[in-house]
Amino acid sequence: MLSPSKLIGSKLSHLRRFCPCIKASAPSFCIYKVLPREHRVMSAAKKSQGSLVEEALVQYGDTSMLDLIDIGINLADPSFDEDRDAVTERAKKAGVSACIITGSSLRSSMRARDICDTSPGASLYFTAGVHPHEAKSCDGNTLSALRDLAGHPRCCAIGECGLDFNRNFSPPQVQEQWFAEQVKLANELQKPLFLHCRDAAERFTAILREEELSVPAVAHCFTGSREELAEYCRMGLHIGITGWVCDDRADRGGAELAQLLHLIPPDKLMIETDGPYLVPRTIKPAKARPRRNEPALLPYVLSAVADALATDKAQVAAQTSTNARRFFGLE
Ligand SMILES: [Zn+2]
Repeated sequence: MLSPSKLIGSKLSHLRRFCPCIKASAPSFCIYKVLPREHRVMSAAKKSQGSLVEEALVQYGDTSMLDLIDIGINLADPSFDEDRDAVTERAKKAGVSACIITGSSLRSSMRARDICDTSPGASLYFTAGVHPHEAKSCDGNTLSALRDLAGHPRCCAIGECGLDFNRNFSPPQVQEQWFAEQVKLANELQKPLFLHCRDAAERFTAILREEELSVPAVAHCFTGSREELAEYCRMGLHIGITGWVCDDRADRGGAELAQLLHLIPPDKLMIETDGPYLVPRTIKPAKARPRRNEPALLPYVLSAVADALATDKAQVAAQTSTNARRFFGLE
């Protein structure tokens, strides 16, 4: 296949081997123009998100039998503003039957609700909560606004909330205060909790205990240690696994995470893309990788999880979707 970058500096005679339609007399400076339109192939960098995703799915193989649920997709993120409807269409085609849009601030939770309201056929649900990075934006109105959102028929959990001491975008004490408030709210409303924890497992589990967590809760995008996972499992938490497990770079911990997956009780395991972040690195070569992650790429997470568990994809798909439907109370 010919791409513009390959054409630069190529000799006409060389190009004619690929494409005999090029006239031998064509001047080299307009060599790309002499290619008939149907023979021009845009380089990966210029391909649209949609075509990269579709090609990744062709590479993946048959997804028609899948029935997956993406339990964490940041579809309210502005990176989806241009093509949100196409994203949910592609998700359906890729065997993703339902998506749960993550609310990570009051604003994004409201946006997530609006997306659900305006896409009735798309099997979308949302969570309402404030991420620890955003905890400093909370005030006297936050809890009543979350309570209102939680009353919406498509709101299926409180969160994402929790602690993130990795970068402390909000001061740790402020994070702890608003995490505890949201656990209280979930207990009060008897809604499941969608949790985030990074570099804060000790205080995270302590607060869940202090608040006497009485609803099902999922530690989404789990990337912690063996000890943390064992503790979460003892507490009965569900575990959300993302494309982190697809990351083969030695310093990122994807392989370590893969080795821990067998410790998760099968009825507690769920999968998610966490798009637009964490594009599965099992899409190869790198230049074929879509720039943004989206629900249609969830089959790649499924494959990596099934490989790590040395079991077949159909079984993991059925188990994780059953878990997600039960956990979030989906119809
Ligand atoms: Zn998170």
